[in-house]
Amino acid sequence: MMPFTYFQPTEIRFGAGRVADTGAAAARFGRRCLIVTVPVFPALGPVLEKVQASLQAAGLAVAHFDGVVPNPTTDVISAGARLAREFKADVVLGLGGGSSLDTAKAVAVEATHDGSCWDYLFFKPAQPTEKTLPVVAVTTTSGTGSHVTQVAVVTNPREKNKSALYHPRIYPRVGIVDPELMVTAPKHVTATTGFDVLAHAFESYINPGGSPYTDMMAVEAMRIVAGRLPAAVANGADLAARTDMAWADTLGGLCIANAGVTLPHGIGMAMSGLYPHVAHGEALACIYPAILRFSWDAALAKFAAFARIFDPALERLDDRAAAERSGDAVEAFLDRIGLRICLRDLRIPENELAALARASLVLPDYKNHPRVAAVDDVHALLMRSVGNGPGASRP
Ligand code: NAD
Repeated sequence: MMPFTYFQPTEIRFGAGRVADTGAAAARFGRRCLIVTVPVFPALGPVLEKVQASLQAAGLAVAHFDGVVPNPTTDVISAGARLAREFKADVVLGLGGGSSLDTAKAVAVEATHDGSCWDYLFFKPAQPTEKTLPVVAVTTTSGTGSHVTQVAVVTNPREKNKSALYHPRIYPRVGIVDPELMVTAPKHVTATTGFDVLAHAFESYINPGGSPYTDMMAVEAMRIVAGRLPAAVANGADLAARTDMAWADTLGGLCIANAGVTLPHGIGMAMSGLYPHVAHGEALACIYPAILRFSWDAALAKFAAFARIFDPALERLDDRAAAERSGDAVEAFLDRIGLRICLRDLRIPENELAALARASLVLPDYKNHPRVAAVDDVHALLMRSVGNGPGASRP
């Protein structure tokens, strides 16, 4: 076995009703808590009340920043950081999907450092210091795994660029995973976030940065997504399916925090950076079949294992034949969860695909894909994802 390192500092509090732990969890880090959410909407209201009540019962003073937007921008983070400074927050609590949790992490950095969070992206010389505020993450999607990762994804609208802070200091100190908070997620959010879980598990599984530890979690996460995401999409109130998906999401987060992602996430990040109306999981769903068909023979055993999880009939075939069908297997699964979409559905103009292809290779993740793509390969992949009629994404 190859030597490996596995690191995970986040305390995970998992299970129905655990939102009641929020106050006790946050009180460990100070007396003044900034809650970070999207603007309150009917499903969020009661959850926010529970969180506020738990914080107040634990003796914390509370302020609320409600300016988060999906694919959070640098402007949003600056507004949140201003409030954190004015309020003299000791701890930042993200409540919501990945957009709210990532905003909380980036606010924790910008509120305590010079300049903007954009100055602290993973490749820049300045990095978050020990001044970074502690973050508590209460997740409401099963999704990004952000409640257990050192990543905050941020969009800079002026540069039309989506990039990331990536630093151990922004791991949430506590991640609260209460599946009861997820039952209100609409079908499309459930499907897109659930597909993101699959992408995290698969991309860490095929990643050279992976290990036996992350492989074990990745296979389990893929198995759960294959078996349980359709039930969560069909009936959002199915708490057992929500619980299973919340666990798969947590496993996926633990995987990417240690193994990383590959080509699909590079393309997906570029797509939402250029077209902020595109949800992260939508971007992934529309390119996955073409990417699997581009790269299945570069890691036969792993693509075969993936394909068999989604289509057990492939157990009868050898690795090469099963791996070759991985694109078909994921397409059939996307059909089952109502997410068989293409670039045309996302209103991405065909004449802008060359620029999208170039932007897709800016982040280094693509270098960890088993078949390393050149810009022409990405352009061809995108062209094969424009429509989704029979055979559209085949080379
Ligand atoms: P999101 O946070 O943008 O939420 C999507 C929509 O669902 C929002 O309108 C939100 O208000 C709503 N919503 C969330 N929970 C709900 C609930 N329980 N009931 C009803 N509505 C609910 O979506 P997301 O996919 O969780 O996060 C996407 C962001 O996370 C992107 O910016 C993506 O790039 C980033 N991301 C981060 C990491 C990481 O490790 N930090 C990993 C992957 C993706």
